[in-house]
Amino acid sequence: MHSSVIFDSALLQKYPARGPRYTSYPTALNFTPKFGKPDLLKAIEQSNNKTLSLYVHIPFCHKLCYYCGCTKVVTRLQSKADVYLDYLIKEIEIQAQYMGHKPVTRVHLGGGTPNFLNDIQLKRLMNGLKKHFNFTTDAELAIEVDPRDMTCERIDTMADMGFNRLSIGLQDIDPKVQEAINRVQSTELIEALVTRAKARNFRSVNLDLIYGLPFQTPESFANTLEAVHKMQVERVSLFSYAHLPERFAAQRKLPADALPNAEQKLVLMRLAIETLCSYGYQFIGIDHFALPTDELAKAQHNKTLTRNFQGYTTEADSDLLGLGVSAISAIGDSYSQNHKDLNGYYYSIEHDKAAPEKGLVLSKDDHIRQQVISDIMCNLTVDKAAISLKFGIDFDKYFADELGKLRPFIEDQMVVNLSHAICIAYKAQLLLRHVCMVFDVYLGLATRQKFSATI
Ligand code: SF4
Repeated sequence: MHSSVIFDSALLQKYPARGPRYTSYPTALNFTPKFGKPDLLKAIEQSNNKTLSLYVHIPFCHKLCYYCGCTKVVTRLQSKADVYLDYLIKEIEIQAQYMGHKPVTRVHLGGGTPNFLNDIQLKRLMNGLKKHFNFTTDAELAIEVDPRDMTCERIDTMADMGFNRLSIGLQDIDPKVQEAINRVQSTELIEALVTRAKARNFRSVNLDLIYGLPFQTPESFANTLEAVHKMQVERVSLFSYAHLPERFAAQRKLPADALPNAEQKLVLMRLAIETLCSYGYQFIGIDHFALPTDELAKAQHNKTLTRNFQGYTTEADSDLLGLGVSAISAIGDSYSQNHKDLNGYYYSIEHDKAAPEKGLVLSKDDHIRQQVISDIMCNLTVDKAAISLKFGIDFDKYFADELGKLRPFIEDQMVVNLSHAICIAYKAQLLLRHVCMVFDVYLGLATRQKFSATI
């Protein structure tokens, strides 16, 4: 499939609304404080999933990037991480009592900046996890890193600890853009990190890119894409910068008048998609690219791709336990989220034995819609017959209203509604979130405004 099939500027301008990224359904905005520890324990007990994935959130960063919308604490004080680890290890011990028997097939350290932890702190964390959980021998151990806190020797240390997947925030290599976003970093160092990770047999390296940043031009961004090409990484993630200064104070520091407008952003996005596809990457879902030899590309081909809070993944039918401040879990029939501020998180570990701040138990309707939305986001096809059979419904009757709302998409030849399936055309690939929104029963106007722009 050629990348130009995906990019239809008339359609992209016609459907400019904001929308969820559907890393879960229902989305985190629908979690409620009514969900408590007893609900979590019940979900753990009732879960049929045989394996476990762990997500560990490290919230600290040494320096503030002005575009950032993540949950993080900016500090130079390394000792804050020691205190955090005290609580994190306690949480690991508590949760392992309930889930420690399941084989752990994946661990993902995200942030914040996981490599804010120095080698001793990182070792302490990994030893704590390995002591209390049962890692499989081929478990995937992934870590996100900020290159400004990295050296090639740290790659060696991470490899020795068992890490085999690496994700680096490249964003943009242009000095003017880096200055404006307060993230000045060396491309040569990033190249050296990638080379070292390959030499140490990391299974894959991912680079994150962002388009829509101040001072970005097609010419400057082409240089960033060229740098990606040179590094020959297995995966690339391409994110649209969402300017929401009313929600994220850091973004007020960006020179707003230097931000590309909507039209310029489309040009940057098109450039990135076409260039990456011309380099041989397969476009995955809405924002990922993978070389055809990579597991993500294979999963897309085999229609086994799935989606969780870290984006696209190949791991289905696994419980996800989130550890650390703000971390989200997806266990059995439930979603739950830890406290989002450090003090609340510490209090919950100390007094409530790691009670989540909020969450929800999925109803049957949630499960049905979750399946539809996952099929759209991952496979571009909704198998009506399979869903009817799985959930004991008549798909066309159950979704009579929603199928009516698909009419504009059908008229724009983005969607075909067949008797046995809904098929999404490649030209709608950048607008998958819009198609999903038709099936999202929680999506009112009030919540819609909280989401980032889909492009
Ligand atoms: S973008 Fe990443 S490194 Fe920068 S402040 Fe946000 S979480 Fe920290």
